[in-house]
Amino acid sequence: MTASGRAGATMTDAAANSPEPRSHAHPSARGTPGGMLPFGDALARVGSTVGPSLAALAVLAGAILGGWTYAPYGLQTGLGIALGAGSIVAMGLALILAARPRGLEGLFGGLDRIYGVHKWLGITALAMMIGHNTLEPELERFVRESGLGDFAGDLGELALNGFIGLILLSWIKRIPFTRLEIPWQIWRFTHRFTGLLFAIAAFHQLAIDKPAGIAPALGLYLNAFSLAGLAAWLFTQFVAPFLRPQGFVLDQLQRHGSATEITLRPTGRALRWRPGQFAFVSAPGAGLTEAHPFTIASAPAPDGHVRFAIKALGDWTRRLPDRLRPGQPLRVDGPYGRFLFRRRVPRQVWLAGGIGITPFLAWAEALTEADRQQIALVWAVTTPDEAFAAERLRAIAARHPGFDLHIVASRSDGRLTAERLAALVPFDIATAELFFCGPTALHRAILTGLRAMGKSPRRDHCEAFELR
Ligand SMILES: Cc1cc2nc3c(=O)[nH]c(=O)nc-3n(C[C@H](O)[C@H](O)[C@H](O)COP(=O)(O)OP(=O)(O)OC[C@H]3O[C@@H](n4cnc5c(N)ncnc54)[C@H](O)[C@@H]3O)c2cc1C
Repeated sequence: MTASGRAGATMTDAAANSPEPRSHAHPSARGTPGGMLPFGDALARVGSTVGPSLAALAVLAGAILGGWTYAPYGLQTGLGIALGAGSIVAMGLALILAARPRGLEGLFGGLDRIYGVHKWLGITALAMMIGHNTLEPELERFVRESGLGDFAGDLGELALNGFIGLILLSWIKRIPFTRLEIPWQIWRFTHRFTGLLFAIAAFHQLAIDKPAGIAPALGLYLNAFSLAGLAAWLFTQFVAPFLRPQGFVLDQLQRHGSATEITLRPTGRALRWRPGQFAFVSAPGAGLTEAHPFTIASAPAPDGHVRFAIKALGDWTRRLPDRLRPGQPLRVDGPYGRFLFRRRVPRQVWLAGGIGITPFLAWAEALTEADRQQIALVWAVTTPDEAFAAERLRAIAARHPGFDLHIVASRSDGRLTAERLAALVPFDIATAELFFCGPTALHRAILTGLRAMGKSPRRDHCEAFELR
């Protein structure tokens, strides 16, 4: 066991300049050849593909049902309705997933993957909607036209144009050909209107003129998704913000340069979470009304306190330390996420870039005497004083044989390369699993380097600090 504060290592430019995990992958595990999976892990891995597959099947079923119901009215009409039906199902599901259904996290592999599927459902819905509008089902000869049906047709156009704007805004994070990122708040504000547009699209499918005697199954299927999607949107917008968060007050606030650690104590029911999970935090009384996600950087404690380490990256996180006073009420909505400590993995490399240390702080704090795994935690920072939890981690390393700590400061020690990582880790990385939380550039550089050395980890797990 070593607890080293200095070790030569290299970081990529991007990593060195921005040690914070602005953009991560998700807590899924990607297998690498030759890896035997513990049963629980294997189950979790299979489980996480169930949700996306079910979502895809539901959209496909809607499209097939639409095509089959309208096939007698011609190929173009059948295809057009298939695309329209598929887009209603995709939109309804996207809204259901946006409601952060905690019970479905296991089927998707975590909330960030739920948001990933939500995003792709939105894009699929838009593509299908454009197809539906382009093919324009030809039903004039088969329906008795009504004023309501005409109105529903016009509203369909309106919903389409609105969706094109909103979904493109969500999809394109940057203004094309510039480095300008569309501010989160603008994206978030506009994104709220997708529910209204969905209501219009749902009305369009319900009220549009249909041929007499059409089979009812399609209508029932689409109405079910329309109702569920609308209910989920109403819940997300108007109920969840009041219902879900739990009450906490600020116990302690410690500033460490650009990072702030806050310790919160529950005012009522304690939060039950597993190390590595995250929660949405807000403090409406302190002008921090919008809820932001942060990993709980402490292990569950009997008194129910939770700690977060928050790096100042933007408006909200910069304001936080000045806005909070001891006793300040805060709201915490969680837990979410599946970046969990895997007890059954005998050799583990935990690689953190900057503030990406937070899940590992919780994991390390949660280690018990029964944990006999060989663990190497490598924390890449720019300067040594950025490693605000170094003492805490050294104390844990001193208690746990097999827990190895290396803090690598790129400015004084040089860059973290795969070669240096392999040299720091006291076992063969090719026999271990890699757990990463930090800048994507660092993750990629390390994986590429390890691959080139023929030392790819048996599995690679990675946590996202981005939900968009
Ligand atoms: C699962 C997860 C765990 C995280 N854990 C930590 C942590 O332990 N410590 C830490 O310092 N940071 C963590 N983050 C990142 C943190 O949420 C953002 O840095 C913070 O929300 C930025 O807000 P801002 O207004 O200060 O910055 P901005 O400049 O407004 O936002 C920067 C980026 O943060 C994201 N973001 C902003 N607002 C929100 C929001 N309300 N909800 C979701 N994402 C948002 C967007 O991608 C945005 O582009 C985590 C993020 C996620 C998704």
